[in-house]
Amino acid sequence: MKKILFDINIVLDYYSITRRKKYPESIKAYELALERDDVYPYISTSAISNIEFLKHGVLKREKPEFTFKERKIIIIEMIKEILKYFKLASTPSYIVFDYDDIENSQIIASANAIDAQVVTRDKAMLAKYQNVAITPQIFLAQVKKQTQKIDFANLKKQYYDLQPQIAKQMDDVLNATSFIMGDKIIQLESELQEFTQAKHAITCSSGTDALLLAMMAMDVRPGDEIITTPFTFIATAETIALMKAIPVFIDIEEDTLNIDATKIVAAITDKTKAIMPVSIYGQPSDMDEINGIAKKYNLKVIIDGAQSFGATYKKQMEVHHCDIYTTSFFPAKPLGCYGDGGAVFTNNDDYAEKIKKLRIHGQSKRYHHQYIGMGGRFDTLQAAVLLVKLPLYAKEITLRQNVAESYCKKLSVQTSSLIIPMIKNDRTSVWAQYTIRTPERDNLQEKLKQHGIPTAIHYPMPLHQQKCFQYLNQKTSLKIAEKVVKEVVSLPMNPYVTETEQERIAHVICQ
Ligand SMILES: *Cc1c(COP(=O)(O)O)cnc(C)c1O
Repeated sequence: MKKILFDINIVLDYYSITRRKKYPESIKAYELALERDDVYPYISTSAISNIEFLKHGVLKREKPEFTFKERKIIIIEMIKEILKYFKLASTPSYIVFDYDDIENSQIIASANAIDAQVVTRDKAMLAKYQNVAITPQIFLAQVKKQTQKIDFANLKKQYYDLQPQIAKQMDDVLNATSFIMGDKIIQLESELQEFTQAKHAITCSSGTDALLLAMMAMDVRPGDEIITTPFTFIATAETIALMKAIPVFIDIEEDTLNIDATKIVAAITDKTKAIMPVSIYGQPSDMDEINGIAKKYNLKVIIDGAQSFGATYKKQMEVHHCDIYTTSFFPAKPLGCYGDGGAVFTNNDDYAEKIKKLRIHGQSKRYHHQYIGMGGRFDTLQAAVLLVKLPLYAKEITLRQNVAESYCKKLSVQTSSLIIPMIKNDRTSVWAQYTIRTPERDNLQEKLKQHGIPTAIHYPMPLHQQKCFQYLNQKTSLKIAEKVVKEVVSLPMNPYVTETEQERIAHVICQ
């Protein structure tokens, strides 16, 4: 990935008949930047008015017969096209001006702010800013050498695409200096409700805190037992333990890697308070079976949906299949903000009212505290990011599903020991991860690494074997969880994985 800011001279070369002939390298650089997925082209905001002014001069020389108005029409079309192809990089307020060359120092400052190089023919700029400014020739050589590196979550691509809208939303917050709660949080919560059709969506400080808030709302007490899966991120069971409750781990299903609902009843005691399934990699668990058991034994159901926001079970979002559903907006989750964040969803008015208080220190009215709560609010700046991303999320889920489908097709042709993920047909996954299994996991991971393909292990150790949970004295072994931790490997997964990248990845896996 390479960010590149084009200086005015290159842009004018591209749009001038005489200059195109004289500076063919400029044209090649311009075209390559637009063509390559891994080059992110920018133009400095400070350049736009100069481009207009200079283009009048170029046109006057090339087309002396044109009137001012005719030139103006051509220039407007040209600038529109430039703005379609390039993102604007603004001059940052912390610019260091070079008063001998204000124009160039603005361009350099714009480039430095976004960590881009400047492509230019300007000799003075090339001499003065040797680390930043490069010629079109050097740019072409660098990009040709650049191997198309595959990105695991590709947050950079998404930020490049959404940067103007996100900047606008964040500027609103910064200029209003309204950093805690406020209209943006209210708006986001209402959009989250709409998206999930949940009666209540309550944002909070993280997916971990969402779990704590859910358990606090249910009045989980010390010694209560909560039945959950050992094949998950630590936060699932860590929060149970933080509540001084006891995580009771049972084994998972071999095909979905979610909690095995048929093993729940055997784990129920008179201390059991709730069941906490985790929608691992984005796929819901067997919710009908789990809810049936919960009803019979009078237990609560909390879904840890940190990986599954937007997934459906029998055509409905998961919030409709539990007492409380929680999710995370950690950057690498399917719907991520730019820091920590999460949300709690419920159709239960009492829980919702309590959770809203719990997230502000159990406060019922200012400085009056009804419950022991926590500082669990979602940052308004993060809400600003999600207000841009949420409207695009349904489409991103589809893109993720397409990527997953294409992986499955490409990888299922091979007959070796590879196991590809399986989604039950009454539910959908949002593919937080695309995770395959093979007994040769470590070799495969190494091989992929050598080909520049990043992978990750979710997760290398089941929770009942973690040091921090040894005090639980878990006696029975959980065979499937213990086996799959040695076999799982997650492949690059995000909405922008291309067909070519998938072919490259599949080729390495199948060779
Ligand atoms: C990420 C994750 C969490 C924690 O979310 P944070 O927002 O990082 O606190 C909890 N459970 C699962 C299954 C997760 O994947």
